[in-house]
Amino acid sequence: MPLHESDSIILKTYPLGEADRIVAFFSRDYGKLRGVANGARRMKNRFGASLEPLAHARIQFFEKENRELVRIQSAELLDSPMKLFEDYDRAVCAAYLVELVDRFLPEHEPQDAAFRLVRMTVRALAQGCPIGFARCYFEVWMLRLSGVFPDLFLCSVCGRSIEIDDERFLAAGLQAVICSSCDHRNASGMLTEVVELAQTILRHPLNGHGGASDRAISTLHELNEYWIRHYSEQ
Ligand SMILES: [Zn+2]
Repeated sequence: MPLHESDSIILKTYPLGEADRIVAFFSRDYGKLRGVANGARRMKNRFGASLEPLAHARIQFFEKENRELVRIQSAELLDSPMKLFEDYDRAVCAAYLVELVDRFLPEHEPQDAAFRLVRMTVRALAQGCPIGFARCYFEVWMLRLSGVFPDLFLCSVCGRSIEIDDERFLAAGLQAVICSSCDHRNASGMLTEVVELAQTILRHPLNGHGGASDRAISTLHELNEYWIRHYSEQ
């Protein structure tokens, strides 16, 4: 029964019996896992605040063959998300991040880019990054890493590349982009500022809000929600 160690982000915990907890966590080296933390429900326990949702912790665990749950041996807190939970709206956003990680990432599969994305978003939220922008940023990248975010710079009909300022349309079903030269009668127009926002997000790390307007952020968020729903129904 080998002992593993990995930097991890805590996702959720559930009580198990009188004294223990089940912990869902996203480990950098082994992907999403679930494990049992013995004694974690006791008032004084060796885990302290390291198993709070969205805590960044170095977790040591044993993996047993043919067992769904690993056994969590120790958890050393590297970064506490407590500041995030002092503000209601930020806490709601944090819970939403956890939901998306739950929904998009398979278990037992390392996802380094997604791990870095979660860490970056949690840090930005704790440091006061505007919530709407951080949420949008996270959604775009989660969709992109899952291969769901459409290519906004390529016409899906003629294959021509579309420049940032060119007119473009979202095909019925919103899964693909059509240029202005192709038949776009059933397609809906896409605001240039939304395309610019998506481009900013895909090209830059998360800090500040890149000068995006509230309208661009809320429009892109609505599209993201649509793509997330579509992904979940697949
Ligand atoms: Zn075209």
